[in-house]
Amino acid sequence: LLDIEQLRATIRTVPDFPKPGIQFRDITTLLADPAALHGSVALLAEHARASGATVIAGMEARGFIFGAAVAIEAGMGFVPIRKPGKLPVETIGVDYQLEYGTDRLEVDPDAIAQGAKVALVDDLIATGGTALAAAELVRKAGGEVAAALFVVDLPDLGGAARLRDSNIEVHTLLAFE
Ligand code: 5GP
Repeated sequence: LLDIEQLRATIRTVPDFPKPGIQFRDITTLLADPAALHGSVALLAEHARASGATVIAGMEARGFIFGAAVAIEAGMGFVPIRKPGKLPVETIGVDYQLEYGTDRLEVDPDAIAQGAKVALVDDLIATGGTALAAAELVRKAGGEVAAALFVVDLPDLGGAARLRDSNIEVHTLLAFE
């Protein structure tokens, strides 16, 4: 079984990225560690199964890495939630606020079956803006959000609390205060 302190130790902290004063939690080093990679994916897959999810959706780009692996581990399919302009079909989109300006997520409406129970997967939750937009997108496409799953939580930024406030089941493997 994976030791969470060992998992934490595989995450590299990069000061002043992408801006001065930000401590970026870099999962590149976790991905390179076979035990941490499989262990984190296996734990997220357990949460996905327990949530009653029928399909996994991952947010571009680091959510693709964990999300696709979790889908395979849990025996489920995978839906990519994409940055704008990437999909070759008519999409459903949701715009959301960033600290400065706005961003957008898009999905292929045919990728989510009506009533599908979707587990969202991303590497990290900070303010929760990305995950709340992804949840709105899933519902717009006709799915239900079964859970939102993250390797890393930054609780000081309040994202997990925001998701729980809007009745989304949240699981994170470890936190950096
Ligand atoms: P939020 O929308 O919750 O504020 O930010 C979470 C999104 O930004 C996720 O898609 C995540 O990949 C990315 N992100 C924000 N801060 C970090 C960080 O320190 N490390 C990593 N790996 N991703 C981050």
